[in-house]
Amino acid sequence: MTARLYLDDAYLSSFGAVVTAAHDGWVALDRTAFYPGGGGQPPDQGSLAVDGSDIGVTEVKEDQDGRVWHHVHADLGVGSTVEGRIDWPRRHAVMRAHGLMHVVNSVARARFRGAITGVQLGVDRSRIDLRLSGFDRDRLPEFEDAVNAVLARDLPIRAHVIPEAEYRSRPELVRTLNVEPPVAAGRVRVVEIVGFDAQACGGTHVHSTGEIGTSRIIRYDNKGRDNKRLYWELA
Ligand SMILES: [Zn+2]
Repeated sequence: MTARLYLDDAYLSSFGAVVTAAHDGWVALDRTAFYPGGGGQPPDQGSLAVDGSDIGVTEVKEDQDGRVWHHVHADLGVGSTVEGRIDWPRRHAVMRAHGLMHVVNSVARARFRGAITGVQLGVDRSRIDLRLSGFDRDRLPEFEDAVNAVLARDLPIRAHVIPEAEYRSRPELVRTLNVEPPVAAGRVRVVEIVGFDAQACGGTHVHSTGEIGTSRIIRYDNKGRDNKRLYWELA
């Protein structure tokens, strides 16, 4: 198993680690701050410094054994010491988008009895698919204003871990349909926007809703009676 440093500190942008396995230009590390992708959040990019040279990490993924693999297009020996560096401007933009997704999710649920069905978070814009009943284009300003009102409250965002049994008894923690719950070793991570919302999530988050900024809906696609696709941008 690779220790996931981003779960305890989403702001960690560099770290030391040891190569535990390698093949075909990919390396697994004993610990990593690279997010391997999942839940709509893309994998990180960055570099590994080895013996004074910087090698780009272009892709990151996890395997079924819980190891995180980094694509470096180079053969590194098992036991090598590396220093990992995350492409921080990119990651921070994605973390802001991720926070936005939590707020959009909760506003959609409270105001329109909606639920997220798919997400693709990005640096410049994010796509959020929602199941919304009785929603149409005329309500976009109301949706956007309600989301921005939450962002402006600058609420703290924090994570804690609960037992899987408690998670199973609290269905309101499951918000994104069609996504596997982040259960690991009988424990589930819950991300809370203090005083507003809590949902199960294994991604990386900013410290407060104020850090997310101000959102704008830049495109709306009607995908059927209840299925709507919204593109959001942050400023
Ligand atoms: Zn999250």
